[in-house]
Amino acid sequence: MFKKILIANRGEIALRIIRAAKELGIATVAVYSQADENSLHVRFADESVCIGPAPSKQSYLNIPAIISAAEITGVDAIHPGYGFLAENATFADICEDHLFNFIGPSPKSMRMMSDKSIARSKALEVGVSVVPGTGLITYTQEAVDKAKEIGYPIIIKAVAGGGGKGMRIVYNSNEMEENINIARREAESAFDNDGLYIEKYIEKPIHVEVQILADNYGNIIHLGERDCSIQYRHQKLLEESPSPNVNEKLRYKLGKSAIKIAKNIEYTGAGTVEFILDEKKYYYFIEMNTRIQVEHPVTEMVTGFDLIKEQIKLAYGEKLKISQKDVNIKGHAIECRINAQNTTNGFSPSCGKITSLNIPGGYGIRVDTHIYAEYEVLPNYDSLIAKLIAYGKSRNEAISCLLRALDEFVVEGVKTTIPLHKKILSEENFRKGDVHTNYLGSLRQEK
Ligand code: ADP
Repeated sequence: MFKKILIANRGEIALRIIRAAKELGIATVAVYSQADENSLHVRFADESVCIGPAPSKQSYLNIPAIISAAEITGVDAIHPGYGFLAENATFADICEDHLFNFIGPSPKSMRMMSDKSIARSKALEVGVSVVPGTGLITYTQEAVDKAKEIGYPIIIKAVAGGGGKGMRIVYNSNEMEENINIARREAESAFDNDGLYIEKYIEKPIHVEVQILADNYGNIIHLGERDCSIQYRHQKLLEESPSPNVNEKLRYKLGKSAIKIAKNIEYTGAGTVEFILDEKKYYYFIEMNTRIQVEHPVTEMVTGFDLIKEQIKLAYGEKLKISQKDVNIKGHAIECRINAQNTTNGFSPSCGKITSLNIPGGYGIRVDTHIYAEYEVLPNYDSLIAKLIAYGKSRNEAISCLLRALDEFVVEGVKTTIPLHKKILSEENFRKGDVHTNYLGSLRQEK
């Protein structure tokens, strides 16, 4: 097994990886920006190295500084977490060039999935449906012509997309030019790549994604699905497993399709294949995330497998010891993303010092967080400050447990998503499992 790994990340995910590594007997190295000097990931790692000032470009995205930290501390491997450099194939190449094992798939598989229009073709090659759509769009007229064939409404998406950026829904040809221009600008500034493509816009879609694990010897399994339909502007807010919209038969089909796509790109490690379901419950591949995801704990709770430990073991070259028949989905888990955001003001970031804090606990509750009383929420980084996860024997039990824990969760000094989560979990349609990605929009219009 690896002796020492460096975690090229911050926040709750850096802590999560440090914990898994410790339990595997692996020493850890934290990297941090000057603003994160007092962070828990720095405190709990065995060693730590400052890699630059607060802005991500100069620290958590600063590849030379991260590689230097790895060399100075003599690590065997680098775990990128999620976000930052996690899906950057060039970073994975550089790690390998410096003889550090990158805890993730090969740069080749990453590249195939990082361009969403190529990812679509990889799914089609193995007979998995994708939403009707196009390859790269160059001119507005091309978009208008293709949209006419596909039928409105359509959604413009960025080939390099992530975090819902660069997406625009278009209802008729008159709106095309303006939306193409906006999406291009957004994609260029977010991803340094203004490539766009078009898909049929599925009304009221359900977002389901399949967790997979693959070793270097061609063994691939899936660990069921997560439903991430509760979203704000295409950003996930609440996730659960299993999905209230997926039965045994559909789970089997989704799992098989996810494995086929992963096999086709010789995928290794932990990954997630994302689909949307339409109103008839037909499923379509939308993209693959070649990293561990924020919402991985709900899968851990219902399967009993520690995905980070599995990911590290697979990167070391161990054979997958879990077979498909070992995967039994038991009970129900739901995760609420606790973000420092003002939900009554367009989810704008809410920064500042946490003046008072109570973290819930008790039966069925798991909290993954890096915050503490007096912690300063900074404008430089993601607004996720905690993940509150509840496990119950049934979906209703998980909901009751979450509502109780949300009541106990006190965060003063910044605004958070806690009040909105309470509202969602108490609402009738959610409780019935009637969720789709426009759910939050309709909930907000009603009130
Ligand atoms: P990103 O990588 O930016 O997160 P995804 O392709 O994963 O983008 O899509 C994010 C979300 O956007 C989906 O969960 C869904 O809510 C919505 N979405 C994506 N494609 C479509 C589509 N063709 N029709 C309707 N909604 C879509």
